[in-house]
Amino acid sequence: MLLSYGYYGRMGYGMGMFFDPTMIFVLIGLVLSLMASGMVKSTFAKYSRVRSMSGLTGAQAAERILHRAGIYDVSIARVSGHLTDHYDPRTKTLRLSEATYGAASVAAVGVAAHECGHAIQHQQRYAPLVLRSTLVPAANLGSSLAWPIFLIGLIASLPALTTAGILLFGLAVLFQLVTLPVEINASRRAVGLLESTGVLGHTENKGVKKVLTAAALTYVASLAASILQLVRLLVLAGGRRSND
Ligand SMILES: [Zn+2]
Repeated sequence: MLLSYGYYGRMGYGMGMFFDPTMIFVLIGLVLSLMASGMVKSTFAKYSRVRSMSGLTGAQAAERILHRAGIYDVSIARVSGHLTDHYDPRTKTLRLSEATYGAASVAAVGVAAHECGHAIQHQQRYAPLVLRSTLVPAANLGSSLAWPIFLIGLIASLPALTTAGILLFGLAVLFQLVTLPVEINASRRAVGLLESTGVLGHTENKGVKKVLTAAALTYVASLAASILQLVRLLVLAGGRRSND
């Protein structure tokens, strides 16, 4: 994936249930995430207006990079939406959004190369990616059950349940922690691949670095937001314990 959409949909569960001073942790995380996604959108828009010198589109650049890496079994497809680009390891498909697939811009080839980076990680069984895939079920379980179990524990004064809720939430945080090196590595590969395949020149790569750094920051922001939520759970649990 190019950028993190965060876990606010699921991990923010119960956000509205407690309007206590610890809400500040949630709000700081929300602001960080919004700032990061605003930055990636504006950087992408800026470099979408810069035409790549080779004139290759995102899809053409992806094909060239994959072939150079000896990968011929990954298909390249279009996907609807804005900044929805991703690599699907199950079907070995690189899905590029409209603004990436057919556009010959510095931003488009940068994003396409990033997704190629994931395809190459998959082919090489890059350890952090393997670990990340292994953690998916646990992270999903953690993010959907953490809040309900934590709240039941808090309301019923059952410390074992609040602790279980915190541990479940920790699984989701761990997933985001493991995601970070996977994303940074994909972007680093992208920059190298664009230069070695001649898709972009050295000066154009500066624009790609800016787009991909902004995208990486959304993952940092998501991780920070989840850690802040974890801290909130610990504070809530600790406060309840000292009140008992
Ligand atoms: Zn990615």
